[in-house]
Amino acid sequence: MTTTFATSGCSLHGHPEVTVTFLEPPLIPDGERLILGHVESAVARGGRFRAGETLAIGGHLVRFCERGDGTLGVEEPEPAPKERWIEAVDRTVREVMLQKFVNESVGLDLAFPPPRTSLLVCRCAQDADAVVLTRLDAGSASKGLSGWSLACADTHEHEAPFVVPLLALSALKPDLVPFLALPPQTVAHVSSGPARVVYRGVARAPLEGSFLARRNERAARKT
Ligand SMILES: [Zn+2]
Repeated sequence: MTTTFATSGCSLHGHPEVTVTFLEPPLIPDGERLILGHVESAVARGGRFRAGETLAIGGHLVRFCERGDGTLGVEEPEPAPKERWIEAVDRTVREVMLQKFVNESVGLDLAFPPPRTSLLVCRCAQDADAVVLTRLDAGSASKGLSGWSLACADTHEHEAPFVVPLLALSALKPDLVPFLALPPQTVAHVSSGPARVVYRGVARAPLEGSFLARRNERAARKT
């Protein structure tokens, strides 16, 4: 069952309205506003979007497409081995909103990784339950790096890292994606148990009732 939402203020500015499509029932209330609100304010300021153009939403890229109904649609890439764009925004909205929720939970500013970048993954982290995400810097679009690296939680000498696109991480380890907008000098300890965020060497306890506090309560009950 698909759900669509559209802008209503773009035609006032001589611009086609923009429609976003969710292929699954939307999980996050008003999540569509992440993209529609961005488009509406850009168009109100004189911005123009055309089919085929991309737009950065957080660290994600979406792309406009023609729809048969006179509005512009929005596509996102599927995290498949071969890149394929589909007219949907489910993953983009979910991942960017969860990243906002994690940062709000620990009171840290958003630092989205540059779009289309990668992270370094130690081989030993591939099958580990407990992993450590470390962000050295804000990343570099020209170098294709997000600033993040991923290792297992053991204290051994980690196996040699390889490069994994953030898009592939969405498919391989979706539970890690919500942590990727934490700023440089953050270390996130993530496992099936409670997650721990350390910023500049100081642990940041999640605010009471926050997204991360609730995630950790659920995880603590399971373990
Ligand atoms: Zn390791």
